[in-house]
Amino acid sequence: MLKVENLVKKYGRATALSGISFHVNKGEVIGFLGPNGAGKSTTMNIITGYISSNVGNVYIDGTEILENPELAKKKIGYLPEQPPLYMEMTVLEYLNFVYELRGCDLPRKAHLEDVCKVVKISDVRDRVIRNLSKGYKQRVGIASALIGNPPLIILDEPTIGLDPKQIIEVRNLIRALGQSHTVILSTHILSEAQAVCDRMIIIDHGKIIADGKTEEINQFIKDNRRYKVFVSGAQSDVLPVLKKVSGVIACEPLAERDGDAVAYAIEAQKGIDIRKPMFHALAEKGYPIMGLEALGASLEDIFISLIDREDA
Ligand code: ADP
Ligand code: MG
Repeated sequence: MLKVENLVKKYGRATALSGISFHVNKGEVIGFLGPNGAGKSTTMNIITGYISSNVGNVYIDGTEILENPELAKKKIGYLPEQPPLYMEMTVLEYLNFVYELRGCDLPRKAHLEDVCKVVKISDVRDRVIRNLSKGYKQRVGIASALIGNPPLIILDEPTIGLDPKQIIEVRNLIRALGQSHTVILSTHILSEAQAVCDRMIIIDHGKIIADGKTEEINQFIKDNRRYKVFVSGAQSDVLPVLKKVSGVIACEPLAERDGDAVAYAIEAQKGIDIRKPMFHALAEKGYPIMGLEALGASLEDIFISLIDREDA
């Protein structure tokens, strides 16, 4: 469905992308995951033909985006990070405008009605876009991406700026779209990709650092669990006890304190739950645990461990 080969993009002297390659198969829902500035929007703008890359190729169903942009673009529905909505138009006027712009040849009335139904905006179709809530505006943006019924839908951070209820609605909508479309959505929120996507492509500093099924990434996160534990007692006494707990690979004191308790970051061996042995070891020496948090589910942690793994 989509083949991206060795994209390199420079803005002046700054390199935004340094060799991005991946494939997307028909029917997949892909999370393009990375922190701010990673290069997500740049990649999406290149895939959709909005900007060109310095090096590399993008094939949509075999068609190179810059060689035959008209044909390639017909196969993509794109919701950019800042959707270009015309605030003074009504929803239906705007969708008609996009219909013309895309040179759509599906039966107009029925098609626009269908699209409104899918994204649940039929009840606001005669309202001026400016007066809609942010959640509705975003759905109008998604509706415009669906015009012409393109098989590949690309959504750049579609839930950013929405409230929690709207986020759930938009995520449900994306999941529903995934039933009949190939979808790529970018996000900087790991849990969003976990909730919506079959596969994640993780990007950082313009490079792909992981590409795998969501279950594989979840397993990786689970296996590479880290903890933050607060233990009362002198650091010089507690640290050696923690380091000796079976299954602990690394332990280091943090700057955080809670009364007389010191915080330690602990890295556990893959697949080993160190909580019980840690409790017993500390209890035996008389050092109470004042708090315990599982780390390792944040995007930062997965990046750090993936980058470490790559370096190793
Ligand atoms: P993301 O969408 O993952 O947040 P972007 O693709 O927007 O990342 O940006 C990648 C890098 O390229 C960032 O360092 C950003 O500052 C830079 N960048 C993006 N657009 C431009 C531009 N038009 N001019 C100069 N630098 C840019
Ligand atoms: Mg972006």
